[in-house]
Amino acid sequence: MNDTTRRGERALRQRLRTTSCSDCEHPWEEHAGSADDAPTTCSECRYEADHDQVVDGRPLCRDTVPAAVIAPPPLRGDQP
Ligand SMILES: [Zn+2]
Ligand SMILES: [Zn+2]
Repeated sequence: MNDTTRRGERALRQRLRTTSCSDCEHPWEEHAGSADDAPTTCSECRYEADHDQVVDGRPLCRDTVPAAVIAPPPLRGDQP
């Protein structure tokens, strides 16, 4: 793995932590698609369900991380 890949992965982790799902408002990090072993439902939603903290009977979120979050268009000047 080269430095560019590592930087990209760190940036991706950062994006997953700092951006969130519009349906359940939990960070994308908790959603399907955020990692190879990610669950199919949002981990935070599952946690709330397990602890009777579900807001307004909201169903478990099954959204997956949008492609734009996983691989946003490269910034200008960011090309090799
Ligand atoms: Zn969600
Ligand atoms: Zn959620």
